[in-house]
Amino acid sequence: HGAISFKDVHFAYDSARPILKGISFDVPAGKTVAVVGPSGAGKSTLSRLLYRFYDVQSGAITIDGQDLRTVKQKSLRKVIGMVPQDTVLFNDTIAYNIRYGRPGASEDEVTTAAEIAQIGDFIRHLPEGFDTKVGERGLKLSGGEKQRVAIARTVLKAPPVLILDEATSALDTTTEREIQAALDVVSKNRTTLVIAHRLSTVIGADEIIVLKSGEIAERGTHAALLEQN
Ligand code: ADP
Ligand code: ADP
Repeated sequence: HGAISFKDVHFAYDSARPILKGISFDVPAGKTVAVVGPSGAGKSTLSRLLYRFYDVQSGAITIDGQDLRTVKQKSLRKVIGMVPQDTVLFNDTIAYNIRYGRPGASEDEVTTAAEIAQIGDFIRHLPEGFDTKVGERGLKLSGGEKQRVAIARTVLKAPPVLILDEATSALDTTTEREIQAALDVVSKNRTTLVIAHRLSTVIGADEIIVLKSGEIAERGTHAALLEQN
């Protein structure tokens, strides 16, 4: 489950400047749809609307047919998981940071999620720059390792809907490939909205939407879009 539908979505942060100008597309349950396009096109705005940081001004977004405006923030947070571009870590162990994904999780579940995300060796450590309040040494995590913490969080939370908002954009090419492979595992069979700025990073998506200035300029599979361009 977790089918998402954007129906003629209009949105502006400031009424003088429309950002999304009538966007319609579906992410069928279990499928992956990627939104690509130049910086400023409105891609992240789509993910913020789906996460209900803001509400649409006209049109609608539905999950399993239910209008988001009738879904409480708290229930929405249970349904949707997000891997952002820069994962912010709390002043506590990596295990604690992973458990944030599902506060009721057991030690074993946290350990398993950490191992799946290949961050298992670090769970007792604190991120660097924080006080070592549990008497362990701080550990400097690379950008890729931080994204692995976010992935472990998501594995633990196991939400039906996943938003990957430029989740690999801040990484170097080699790390990007590794993290992409981990994200592919997590998003398999999960309704997933991917936000990216390059077509080459979303080859496996079931559909790609090209957003330009708040409008859908093109859409199709990776192969079809390459043929047109
Ligand atoms: P993208 O993700 O495609 O780079 P965004 O959705 O982040 O684009 O932004 C689309 C436009 O909305 C940009 O022109 C940006 O400056 C503007 N914008 C984004 N967030 C805000 C905000 N909180 N308040 C006002 N304008 C914003
Ligand atoms: P609320 O906004 O309702 O207080 P939180 O922001 O504390 O809820 O987050 C609740 C859930 O949403 C957590 O389980 C967490 O996995 C997820 N979440 C919220 N924000 C982010 C984020 N930026 N990155 C990853 N997960 C997030």
